[in-house]
Amino acid sequence: MARYDLHCHSTHSDGLLAPAAVVARARARGVDVLALTDHDELSGLAEAREAALAAGITLICGSELSTTWEGITIHIVALGIDPANATLADSLAAIRVGRSARARRIAEALAAAGIDGAYDGAMRYVTSERLVSRTHFARYLVEAGHAREMKDVFARYLTPGKPGHVPHEWAQLAEAVGWIHAAGGQAVIAHPGRYKVDGSGMRRLLSEFRDAGGDAIEVVSPSHTRAQYGEFATHARVLGLRASCGSDWHGPGESSMELGALPDLPVGVVPVWRDW
Ligand code: AMP
Ligand code: MN
Ligand code: MN
Ligand code: MN
Repeated sequence: MARYDLHCHSTHSDGLLAPAAVVARARARGVDVLALTDHDELSGLAEAREAALAAGITLICGSELSTTWEGITIHIVALGIDPANATLADSLAAIRVGRSARARRIAEALAAAGIDGAYDGAMRYVTSERLVSRTHFARYLVEAGHAREMKDVFARYLTPGKPGHVPHEWAQLAEAVGWIHAAGGQAVIAHPGRYKVDGSGMRRLLSEFRDAGGDAIEVVSPSHTRAQYGEFATHARVLGLRASCGSDWHGPGESSMELGALPDLPVGVVPVWRDW
């Protein structure tokens, strides 16, 4: 059976390797079908597609869209989109502008907490002038000695209630699903186990996603426990959604799951790739 990895990042967002290097690494790890899903960005897809063609693996054009639902940030992975679609491309460009403004506010919030120079520090980690993310701040804060590991920086500084966190309004969930469909793609709710919602909140989130036209749940993800694979597989079956899997790989030494090192989808779900 083909090995799928449908969620990863390159230097066109907050990953550490260029798209061609991500593709080469995926190929070396035995991936047959790879989706490059840079945050709010499509610009790495041309290079990835060319590299995949040369390497003999299948590249699915993707992106990971930042959205807001009931005040919390929800990521929607787009799979199989047309990178030339103007509706999607223009909408993502607007989200990236919002990211730049947010970066200034994050730096101000950190300065108010006694950490100076975070904007310039984060910029030294940015690898595409088009996109800045909290990951770039996190890498700088580790370098500056404010935490030992990336996950500690997020826990101490960059998440709701912490000194470097600023509220931000992303796209509306339903709007993002619409752009993905306009570009011919499928919308997958990314790593749902990460969202800070209770059981009824999760059911509401997933059913609103389904009602908005959402296609699939990312069931297998390094953000999930084995028990959660089963829980999200059940949600997918009950809601009539398909199931996806992705390593959410960002770079050597920075990700808990290697490219392609994904367990099989639980039995009984319909894979997101069934009609590919
Ligand atoms: P942003 O989209 O700018 O808000 O940044 C979100 C990114 O931060 C995610 O895609 C991850 O790459 C990274 N991130 C979020 N939480 C953590 C964490 N606890 N540990 C490591 N990276 C994280
Ligand atoms: Mn990321
Ligand atoms: Mn994500
Ligand atoms: Mn991701």
